[in-house]
Amino acid sequence: MNEVILLNLGFTNVYLLKADSGYIQFDTGWKFDVKKYLKLLEKKKIALEEIKLIVVNHAHFDHVGALKSVKELTQAKVLVHEEDSEYLIKGISAEVRPLKLITKIFLKFLPKSWTFYESVEPDIVIQDEYSLSDYGVNGRVIHTPGHTHGTLSIITEDGDAIIGCLAHAFPLRLKPGFPRIALDEEGVWRSWQKIIDEGAKRIYISHGRSPSIEYIKKKLKKKQKI
Ligand SMILES: [Zn+2]
Ligand SMILES: [Zn+2]
Repeated sequence: MNEVILLNLGFTNVYLLKADSGYIQFDTGWKFDVKKYLKLLEKKKIALEEIKLIVVNHAHFDHVGALKSVKELTQAKVLVHEEDSEYLIKGISAEVRPLKLITKIFLKFLPKSWTFYESVEPDIVIQDEYSLSDYGVNGRVIHTPGHTHGTLSIITEDGDAIIGCLAHAFPLRLKPGFPRIALDEEGVWRSWQKIIDEGAKRIYISHGRSPSIEYIKKKLKKKQKI
């Protein structure tokens, strides 16, 4: 079983998946998060060079803002989906579509300068999926669009599913559930179904406390009844 380690950076959760020799990292947080990230790594006694691969959930500033610095520090390879790769190369956030007034207000008051980040040239650009077996992980990176068109998740054979912004919790919404920001709502529902079909037992999200997979299943069932 590959251990999943949470690095709680505050607004954004970063995850490390224990591989054979080193770790696979999921996201990097805001550009202001580097110091906190380094502190948490030190606390967990993980060396920078142990990070072998960074999987980008999607190209929004709160996930890839620190990517340039973390890539340089760790020398890890960066993997992104083709649909979000252009944004990464330009250092801008992928298109955002808030679904609720509260997220509209949140985004309106967010200083524009916070949303820009240093551009990153990805090493691996995928369209569909990517096996992590070379890293000693029985798992894959899979395409789970909805929040953005290029949103990716990690799913392991043990049932760990790191899904990032495929679901949101506090502070983006009070109770965990459907992402408050999504370019393609139907895409989110389809990606939830995909995660379940892939055998997810535990899910890990980027903002707030991760809900159980049963909770996601219940929501999906309710939607299918409508
Ligand atoms: Zn996002
Ligand atoms: Zn986010």
